[in-house]
Amino acid sequence: MRITALAGGVGGARFVRGLRHHLDTTPGLEDTEVTVVANTGDDITLFGLRVSPDVDTLLYTLGGGIDEAQGWGRADESHRVQSELAAYGAQPQWFALGDRDFGTHVVRSQWLGQGLSLSEVTARLAARWGLPEQRITLLPMTDTPVETHVVVDEGDGERAIHFQEWWVRHQASVPARRFVVAGLDRAAAAPGVLDAIRQADVVLLPPSNPVVSIGIVLGVPGVRDALRGTTAPVVGVSPLISGRPVRGHADACLEAIGVPATAAAVGGLYEDFLDAWLVDPADAGTTLARARVEVFDGPLLMSDVDATARIAAHALRLASSVTA
Ligand code: GDP
Ligand code: CA
Repeated sequence: MRITALAGGVGGARFVRGLRHHLDTTPGLEDTEVTVVANTGDDITLFGLRVSPDVDTLLYTLGGGIDEAQGWGRADESHRVQSELAAYGAQPQWFALGDRDFGTHVVRSQWLGQGLSLSEVTARLAARWGLPEQRITLLPMTDTPVETHVVVDEGDGERAIHFQEWWVRHQASVPARRFVVAGLDRAAAAPGVLDAIRQADVVLLPPSNPVVSIGIVLGVPGVRDALRGTTAPVVGVSPLISGRPVRGHADACLEAIGVPATAAAVGGLYEDFLDAWLVDPADAGTTLARARVEVFDGPLLMSDVDATARIAAHALRLASSVTA
């Protein structure tokens, strides 16, 4: 079996880890290949280094190097490089980069500088984290540099700031007017992305941010058409429970695009290609015009790997019960 998942950072990574655990512990499913298409709209250049936050969260989570409590960054991290940068007055200081994490950004930037594509670089990074052995292929959504920017109110006008500045520095507390993804309209899907969607047996949408994670991947030319056209059932897991994101600021993102923060409205964003939508018991009663809605038999919380594996298992059962 071939499964393809679209993913942002923490939500996507935790879901895929649980999915892999389910596959590895279910007789007959061990050989399943999982392809993850990662959002790269969060990418940013800091101190001359290219940082891919969602790709790195996927690498560290799936490779066993994540800071589990934080959900992102490396375990056993120190910040000596960042304090040196601060001593020089180097900016910005609002984005935390640990010393081990710096290693990833240095080598990524070196390889990009040598002319490798982001896909090639990501494959090398994934090899270090043992993803191929786990039958996981991690693809950036595109090799073209793209960056999500947030248009915010400046009183006498508007200004676009990098998504990370809005999310990390301002904690999404500055109202966003809209999101603009620089470079996205001219970006080509990375090698393998469209085929992974078209040739999958199942396509899954983890509970990633619908606007700035999944929404950005869907904006890559060809991705949405591939999802509409694939013969695979497409099953999504709601990132909202009772109108709230479990973590992060998905509600603020939805407000900016004028979509209510409900499981139904988020499912509605995908309805042109979605076959089934898994929601929390608190959202029982959710209906979608064109997709089957199913209520998970417990909290839709990825509290640990086993709990997440049960969510992934339910999503796969749902996939086999619907036709694309
Ligand atoms: P990010 O790029 O690190 O923000 O991560 P993602 O975009 O992949 O996922 C973030 C989204 O995951 C958040 O907006 C939450 O709504 C959702 N999320 C996080 N933890 C959980 C959970 O335990 N259960 C569910 N259903 N959604 C979650
Ligand atoms: Ca992200």
